[in-house]
Amino acid sequence: MERGQCGQEASWAGGGIVSPLYPWRYGEPVSRLSRWSEGVYPTLALRLLEETGIDPEYRQKGLLYLNVEDDEQALAWARQMGKPLERVEAEVVQQKEPAALASGGSALWMPTLGSIRNPRLGQALRARLAAMPSVTLVEQCQVTGFLQRQGKVVGVATGSGELHAERIVVCGGAWAAQLLEGLGVQLPVRPVKGQMIAYQTPPGLVQRVVLKDGRYVIPRNDGLLLVGSTLEEAGFDKTTDQDALASLRQSAENIIPALARYPVAYHWAGLRPGSPDGIPFIGALPEFPNVFVNAGHYRNGLVLAPASTHLLVDQLLDREPLIDPAPYLPVALRRG
Ligand SMILES: Cc1cc2nc3c(=O)[nH]c(=O)nc-3n(C[C@H](O)[C@H](O)[C@H](O)COP(=O)(O)OP(=O)(O)OC[C@H]3O[C@@H](n4cnc5c(N)ncnc54)[C@H](O)[C@@H]3O)c2cc1C
Repeated sequence: MERGQCGQEASWAGGGIVSPLYPWRYGEPVSRLSRWSEGVYPTLALRLLEETGIDPEYRQKGLLYLNVEDDEQALAWARQMGKPLERVEAEVVQQKEPAALASGGSALWMPTLGSIRNPRLGQALRARLAAMPSVTLVEQCQVTGFLQRQGKVVGVATGSGELHAERIVVCGGAWAAQLLEGLGVQLPVRPVKGQMIAYQTPPGLVQRVVLKDGRYVIPRNDGLLLVGSTLEEAGFDKTTDQDALASLRQSAENIIPALARYPVAYHWAGLRPGSPDGIPFIGALPEFPNVFVNAGHYRNGLVLAPASTHLLVDQLLDREPLIDPAPYLPVALRRG
């Protein structure tokens, strides 16, 4: 059940970096999901292209980190994880990404990092699901509440009638907590607005993801160059504003000076499902064991999605879980 069209909210608005931005700054629960997902993305993207004809443009061209303060911590993390990450001099930055402005600070190079064109990933997933006989996608249909009988949830109420179900998964992103209020459940997931801009540049001007002072540029195959992002606590407001535009432009030019010559082609905002420590909630609600949650992926919902969904389905089907589900269970975190 989808209020609008599948894959048009945060999952459309995001940048599509297939890694947390500074992965060494995250705790084990996010890292564990991310590690597994990063490994399956190349095959997932290929399969979707083959099965739907829509190319989610998985690109594995690496990530350059400029101005990293905690590089020792990053390198220690990489050694422990067995991840290729190396400290590089300004000449190497110039050679890898001639358009980037290499400043004096420490730079790191992560050659294995990938990115995905998330709006196309959404289109491909939607097309794939629509073609599966066992799946019915109901779009333009808002869930307005839960149907209960003798204390048990038996379905949902929607703008176009009731739908009965044995089990329900709430994956409403930034709106998940609103939905669960109807059951008296308080899920600590809140909207965190992110604004982004994009330039249309000649293909190849920038080849890699480049990250500096928390802001990043992400190239697509056709030269579209995304720059993100703001972090704003603004409720469910998705409007864009001139201050954010100016600030994003400044960051963009600070990373790739040549962007001063290009107009901004697009400017948009999306709502991240913010959660404590960015750890998603995955699993059944203790009060309503047939209602499951998969929400709260905050800044990493694209990279975490494959592992997160796998873990959810493991619980739905009572299978051996991919990883220990304990850190993500709604019960454990809410009591904490
Ligand atoms: C600017 C920005 C940059 C980002 N960059 C990255 C990145 O580089 N890498 C990364 O991994 N992640 C990134 N993210 C985070 C990522 O986009 C999110 O974590 C992820 O998309 C969340 O997915 P979701 O399915 O939970 O939420 P959404 O994609 O928002 O989907 C929730 C869906 O629920 C529907 N819905 C809500 N309420 C109802 C209702 N009552 N009835 C019916 N349908 C309903 C909505 O319409 C929506 O389609 C970024 C996010 C933003 C905003």
